[in-house]
Amino acid sequence: MSTFLLQRDQVLRALPPQKLFIGGKWVDSDSSEVLEVRSPSTGELLGKVPHASAKDVARAVESARGAWDAWRLTPPFERAAACHRIADRILARKEQIATIISLEQGKPYIAEALPEVEETAENFRIAAEDVKRLETPIIPARDPNKRLFTFKVAIGTWGIITPWNFPTVIPSEYFGPGIAAGNTIVFKPAEQTPLAGYFLAQCMAEADLPPGVFNLITGLGPTTGDALVSHPGIDGIGLTGETHTGDTIQRRAGVKKLLMELGGNGPQIVLEDADLQRAAKAAAFGAYFNAGQVCCATERVLVDRRVHKDFLDLVVQEAKNIKVGDPFLEGVHMGPMNNLPVLEKTERHLADARQRGARVVVGGKRLANQATNFFFEPTVIDNVTPEMLLNNEETFGPVVPVITVDNYEQAIKLANATGYGLQMAIFTQDIDKAFYFADRLRSGNVVINDTTDYWEAHEPFGGGGGTKSGYGRLGGRFTFDDMTHLKTVALHINNLTPKRSA
Ligand code: NAD
Repeated sequence: MSTFLLQRDQVLRALPPQKLFIGGKWVDSDSSEVLEVRSPSTGELLGKVPHASAKDVARAVESARGAWDAWRLTPPFERAAACHRIADRILARKEQIATIISLEQGKPYIAEALPEVEETAENFRIAAEDVKRLETPIIPARDPNKRLFTFKVAIGTWGIITPWNFPTVIPSEYFGPGIAAGNTIVFKPAEQTPLAGYFLAQCMAEADLPPGVFNLITGLGPTTGDALVSHPGIDGIGLTGETHTGDTIQRRAGVKKLLMELGGNGPQIVLEDADLQRAAKAAAFGAYFNAGQVCCATERVLVDRRVHKDFLDLVVQEAKNIKVGDPFLEGVHMGPMNNLPVLEKTERHLADARQRGARVVVGGKRLANQATNFFFEPTVIDNVTPEMLLNNEETFGPVVPVITVDNYEQAIKLANATGYGLQMAIFTQDIDKAFYFADRLRSGNVVINDTTDYWEAHEPFGGGGGTKSGYGRLGGRFTFDDMTHLKTVALHINNLTPKRSA
């Protein structure tokens, strides 16, 4: 057995019991149904987690609600200290957590899983620091006998529902600010990647977070997830997921507070004066990082006709340099895709484009002779046109679709036309042109001269285009705006000004 396999074995053995984490304890599920977790890169069975029932969900919600009164009144500096302790525990378990991420999600261990765990810890640190400076205005009063104070206060108990592409960093974007602000949480991770969540729950327990502040339930979206969304004891729902999931949840949640981080269809726009080498590297990174399974992945490249050929040659070369394989091997840039539906969607979008006249220049199919058939070739496809699925829908696979444009207005129109608007990138050497585009792109985030996959942990990130990318902001202090509400306290004071004698 190789050392890697031994290490994997040790990590699997170090996992907490695959139960539910409710009220600070690992407890049995009321349901006897389990969900298998398999590695996309080897096919091996990694674990079996409960398919939590509505009764389990109700227990978790009750526990979170029970913890809320004390937690929201705990001084912010103590909540900040708890967040720092959680970050410490995450970093202490960094290799274990990264190993489980690579195993169940498929991303390369060194290049992507370890940095994901570091960013996860950082999200708790940022929240810890920000909550200490959560200033709010004192506003002028019309009544001379009043003083008006505002406070950002916790909303209550949140259901946090997350996807499989970033098993720990996305949850931490909610947990850090949510917990720091005094909310309590019931977490339902994606069914494909729940095991990393077990380590996160363990870190919370090791950090002495009061029982009930954080709870973990596992299960499928339409059953366990739906029971959480529709539970009357839940005050807010944070969802990172597909647009149609957001649509369903929005309808099921009623008037609960919602924070929706949904799909993207990020175009990278390459103007005639762009640094083409840089643009090609950025497109390849944007399409192949995490095998393209990123909300702000480069889903399409809109390139000026005058530089189309040169850009295409460069990006094809970049694609050829990508090494696909076992995520634990050094030098591997891209692991397997995570699951069959996302793989089949990629194939469906490519087949649609081919049938309508697009040309696959490199890649385009699954990689043969691998441990599983989840490995896909880094792909570049040219002659993509606006009516194709590759242009209109989120593909979420390792594909660079190249669309040629003739002028700026056409590029802006195409970029804005799909209803998504999460992150877009523009490549030009001219700052005036860069801002001409930045001002006109309907997108929550715009990057100038770097990949659509560029983000920083503390920047506000979220949908800002049509409705398909959702709303609300995750990232740094901006999440506090969504996970708190502004409470106004009006104070009456008696007017002590001495009356003047006539
Ligand atoms: P998904 O919508 O299928 O699942 C996300 C989560 O929702 C899972 O935990 C799932 O179990 C749950 N769910 C599904 N149906 C549900 C229902 N009816 N009720 C309650 N919960 C339900 O998404 P996915 O395939 O796991 O993730 C990929 C998607 O996430 C992509 O569209 C991607 O763009 C998006 N995403 C967005 C961001 C962002 O910041 N905007 C970040 C990462 C991923």
